[in-house]
Amino acid sequence: MFKFKHVFVLVLATLMFVIGFAAVGGQSSSAQTIKFTSAMHTSKNLTYNGTIKYYVKADAKRYSPEITYATKKWNRALGKNVFKRTTQISHSRLVFTGTNKLGSNYAGVAEINSGVIALNTSWMSRYNQQKRRAVVIHELGHTFGTKDLYAYPNASLRSLFKKQTIMGGNYSSQIKSFDSKLAKWTLKKTRSMSQTEFRHYRSNAGLYYQQMLTGRL
Ligand SMILES: [Zn+2]
Repeated sequence: MFKFKHVFVLVLATLMFVIGFAAVGGQSSSAQTIKFTSAMHTSKNLTYNGTIKYYVKADAKRYSPEITYATKKWNRALGKNVFKRTTQISHSRLVFTGTNKLGSNYAGVAEINSGVIALNTSWMSRYNQQKRRAVVIHELGHTFGTKDLYAYPNASLRSLFKKQTIMGGNYSSQIKSFDSKLAKWTLKKTRSMSQTEFRHYRSNAGLYYQQMLTGRL
């Protein structure tokens, strides 16, 4: 069994991370050292000049408190104001929308190409504030290019991620060091889109942005 803090200091230097977890049936805790892999991220993030300007569409305004909470949490965790709200959709890289047209399995979906986070109103209305916050924090995690860790290839890690991490879907409204290290690492491993590329995606009728504008999302 490791002393958690010692392991943590060590892994910072080697681009690995530690997940602490409660030992089954006991008060003690353990830690596991895990290497970051390319299976944890896609190729792109939503930043432009280091920021992600986000717009809250009218149908998502009821979730403004959760969106504000989640963006502040990430900004603090990243040590940088990555998320900035804008009142002009044309200036945004990310739009929040509330919809009942998502598949019933999804509480929320993030689409990076055209920059949309769609929140499933039927799930959000059932959830308490803590869970609503957790959904927004998780979806924002995708804007850095991080994948869903509940779909991670390795089964034993997958089950650990599910319990311990934001991107594994642990429904936490707190961002732990594991989550923020992964986000920072992902941002380094992925690229941001040029305005030309991004506008191209935003004009694509098959992607979320146009679907949202034309009432299909
Ligand atoms: Zn996800």
